[in-house]
Amino acid sequence: MKRSTEANDPYVARDLAHVWHPCTQMKDHEQLPMVPIRRGSGVWLEDFAGNRYLDAISSWWVNLFGHANRRINAAITRQLESLEHVILAGFTHKPVIALSEALTKLAPGLTRCFYADNGSSAVEVALKMSFHAWRNAGHTAKRRFITLTNSYHGETLGALAVGDVELYKSTYKPLLMDVITVPSPDCYERETGESWAEHSRRKFAHMEAALAEHAHEVAAVIVEPLVQCAGNMRMYDPVYLRLLRDACNRHRVHLIADEIAVGFGRTGTMFACEQAGIQPDFLCLSKGLTGGYLPLSVVLTTEAIYAAFYDEYVKLNAFLHSHSYTGNPLACAAALASLAIFREDEIIERNRALAAHMGARARELESHPHVAEVRQTGMIVAVELVRNRTTREPYDWRERRGLRIYKHGLERGVLLRPIGNVVYFMPPYVITPEEIDLMVEVAREGIEIATCD
Ligand code: PMP
Repeated sequence: MKRSTEANDPYVARDLAHVWHPCTQMKDHEQLPMVPIRRGSGVWLEDFAGNRYLDAISSWWVNLFGHANRRINAAITRQLESLEHVILAGFTHKPVIALSEALTKLAPGLTRCFYADNGSSAVEVALKMSFHAWRNAGHTAKRRFITLTNSYHGETLGALAVGDVELYKSTYKPLLMDVITVPSPDCYERETGESWAEHSRRKFAHMEAALAEHAHEVAAVIVEPLVQCAGNMRMYDPVYLRLLRDACNRHRVHLIADEIAVGFGRTGTMFACEQAGIQPDFLCLSKGLTGGYLPLSVVLTTEAIYAAFYDEYVKLNAFLHSHSYTGNPLACAAALASLAIFREDEIIERNRALAAHMGARARELESHPHVAEVRQTGMIVAVELVRNRTTREPYDWRERRGLRIYKHGLERGVLLRPIGNVVYFMPPYVITPEEIDLMVEVAREGIEIATCD
């Protein structure tokens, strides 16, 4: 039965008259429904016509503990009564102090927190800080960055430059700094019979060679630990990060871990770097930092980096970078409430059963004639669709097969948002096994419809 959406119409009309939506060809909305949401609760979003949508992608990977979470709501409300915002230069407040204490405890060895207000800005901070730390130490030649193919680090010009998703990057190339791009350890590309660890280790040879050749002019290597999320949810083995940490030490290059998407439990541990037992020089966090409530990001770094900037003012060695809403108290209060839920409800342990169930259900799609691979890292599961399963010939992107799945999901009440030909599940951690079953079933139907011709 087709769902009624009439009550949405007035909001859609007003929206389309003025709102320019992110990452969208607005002409698509001549065909594609715009969905105005009036409320959320747990994993569910509800539109003005009363239709519900299971948020299988955590609203762009931010939401951890459901929409309108009672505990996070209460924390923000409490904070709102005393202080909504204050400049963070020269002034401070309790939530930012407590959050910095909590984060540095979770990331041993990283003792300093520099705040911004979105993921891309955190990446800009890490890039500038790395370059500037070397410069302050007299190494002015170190001003380039090494990145992986298929990586994504955000949309601002610096973050875009160190990313490698053609769709977002190619138009703006004339504006971007030049980077050194090394083949990704992406395990979708492994040989038959090769393990993730063997493949990731083999691919490391490219990184080692790039470091050997360029270390003198390189400030940092930037990676998304374990999962290249925007790059089609491609995954790799922790051994790569261990080798990378060791090589960065040997070649005297910083390591920036962009855990903006994978941090806060997505890969099965609080931070993905834990699975490799490594400590980066810069750890970028955002998205799930506030449980998906408010824009906030942070770059954690070491005492050594901090010390490289600590000097007499007149030497002009300070890191003079700021954003108006840096360290916003409401966002910090949400982040503290989210971390309390992690502790009190033992989320990392509890997620193991959820991840096992989600993986098992999704792997039932493996036998589909147009599925090349079902892969999983913790609470992230991805299904790679192809035209030909034997040769792994991909579908032409112009066919927009993923969009058919998205549309089917909306009709069946599940918000799936395939990236190209990859359907993925990255739900809030409050999802139930029954809701996982529904999410995977609707994806299966969508895949059937999208691949039938
Ligand atoms: N880095 C990674 C790994 C991301 O996935 C994203 C967002 N998808 C960003 C950076 C950029 O974050 P934001 O969208 O908040 O600028």
